[in-house]
Amino acid sequence: MKKLIRNFLLFFIIFLVIAAVFSSFTDQKGKSETVGLETLISRINNDEIGELVVSGDKITATLKDGKSESIRKEPNESLSALLSNFAVDPAKVAGVKISVKDESGWDYWLANIIPFLLPLLLVGIFIFFTMRGLQGANSRAMSFGQSTAKDFKPDAKNRATFKDVAGAKEAKEELQEIVEFLRFPKKFHDLGAKIPRGVLLLGAPGTGKTLLARSVAGEAQVPFFHMSGSEFVEMFVGVGASRVRSLFEKAKKNAPCIVFIDEIDAVGRRRGAGLGGSHDEREQTLNQILVEMDGFEPTQSIIVIAATNRPDVLDPALLRPGRFDRRVMIDLPDLKDREDILLVHARKKPLSKKVDLKVVAGRTSGFSGADLANILNEAAILAARNNKKEIVNEDLFEAIEKVMIGPERKSRVITDKEKKITAYHEAGHALVAHFLPDADPVHKVSIIARGSAGGYTLKVPSEDRHMHSKSEFISEIAVLLAGHLVEKTIFGEVTTGATSDLRRATSLARSLITDFGMSDHLGPRTYGEKEEMIFLGREIHEQRDYSEKVAEQIDQEISGFIKQGEAQAAEIINREKEQLEKIVLVLLEKETLEKEEFEQLVGPKPAKREAAVSVD
Ligand code: ADP
Ligand code: MG
Ligand code: ZN
Repeated sequence: MKKLIRNFLLFFIIFLVIAAVFSSFTDQKGKSETVGLETLISRINNDEIGELVVSGDKITATLKDGKSESIRKEPNESLSALLSNFAVDPAKVAGVKISVKDESGWDYWLANIIPFLLPLLLVGIFIFFTMRGLQGANSRAMSFGQSTAKDFKPDAKNRATFKDVAGAKEAKEELQEIVEFLRFPKKFHDLGAKIPRGVLLLGAPGTGKTLLARSVAGEAQVPFFHMSGSEFVEMFVGVGASRVRSLFEKAKKNAPCIVFIDEIDAVGRRRGAGLGGSHDEREQTLNQILVEMDGFEPTQSIIVIAATNRPDVLDPALLRPGRFDRRVMIDLPDLKDREDILLVHARKKPLSKKVDLKVVAGRTSGFSGADLANILNEAAILAARNNKKEIVNEDLFEAIEKVMIGPERKSRVITDKEKKITAYHEAGHALVAHFLPDADPVHKVSIIARGSAGGYTLKVPSEDRHMHSKSEFISEIAVLLAGHLVEKTIFGEVTTGATSDLRRATSLARSLITDFGMSDHLGPRTYGEKEEMIFLGREIHEQRDYSEKVAEQIDQEISGFIKQGEAQAAEIINREKEQLEKIVLVLLEKETLEKEEFEQLVGPKPAKREAAVSVD
């Protein structure tokens, strides 16, 4: 579209230029006044003419006083015949200088030819441009199989280095080795060491895999070819394979270098697992990648880095020695890493002196690096929208909640009754979370709608943990059910507001049994094969590897766990009725309660039960 407009403008300008040239010629003629034949005759008779120039059927007369006039005559009649026809006195004619000019003068030709040439020229230019456009499209169609890899030559300015990657200490250490290989390949070749060919970066989305791969190239100062798994797979079968070929050709020409295949699970899924149509193409592409990785000489320092967040679905052939045999896990950042990542992204943002990024890090347990970068960006936008010169704590906290749950919807109209129900519901969550020692402490309660939620209760774990016990899970179920339960006890019936709570409680209870082996009846084993199959675009996640009878038992156990949670919640709600009413009152008045206010209201959180230590 842009191109079309540009072409059109070009035409327009060409047209204007030609029109200007053309009109300047006609203008020149316009300088002499056109008069009739009889005027000419009378001027000759009155001795006013100094010179006559005949050019074709045009006569230009220069008067003695310097003015010039032009006269048209009949084309076939000569001037002398004309003069004699009009019976002009020959003596008077003799005093006039008469010259006949050739008709081939510049202006004659231009004046005659341009009217024909101009449209032709325009049509010609038009055809030329259209053809060129078509040719472009053609050659694009022909270059389908070419790799569209983004070629990235590290220049000093926008090169990413390990400095840009905060945290991820182990990953960086492992990749440091790759940097060495690329920088000093000879050192390794001389000792007969084989340089690894492939490195697989594994980690949740947004943990900085792409960033790490780029920073390896930056550290080693080698070219970097970036392509995403989904770019290999196009409309036509065979395109993927030929793109892989051309990608590696490019790489070989630029060795030492890094080839980065992002989201490799798009092509590297376990072969033969899919039922859909496109997986033939995927297989071919994957095969080609394997062939290329086997194909380059060990002395060619090309290192293929691939990234995925689904290592479980990768084809085993990709993982065997000689291919992606180095695997680098990138975990979600822990507290310290989160602070470091926030620091990296806060570099160019003016933060208020009061901001402590450690607090922000504490509130963002489970966030990825990309989420954290996003929070700082959202906070900057919020500050800018309020015409502030620096980012303050409130901006950051608001940004966290926006990223976590969704934007605040203050304008949503709710009735007083709805507001009351929401207040009781959220107060229920908060109350149970507060008084159950194993539940995470309450950070904020609010009845302002946000995202799809009518209200929300934020709990933040007091520390980052990777393991959870059964009692913690049961407490979590109790907290989830608390909203529903309070609605039932206070209003006698429940609303639709608790649907997602119930769903989450149920799936948590199921995981306890089928994934974590926490059911006493069903024992320490998993249920259900988590195999991935793609059928008609839908992923079928679980395959049953247990009998109908066990399925029934699982259902019973789920109900059992839900009941346990419900009982815990009910006990606290009955015991702390007054506290509940207190929370509701303040919520209805203020709409939002922060951690400090909340704890002032209901007292400090009871200490966590320590696991019994037996000494013998
Ligand atoms: P992935 O490829 O793992 O999905 P990316 O590398 O694309 O994640 O990360 C997205 C963005 O998140 C990065 O561009 C960067 O701004 C930020 N980010 C993620 N991890 C980190 C980190 N460890 N240090 C600094 N920034 C990070
Ligand atoms: Mg990525
Ligand atoms: Zn709820």
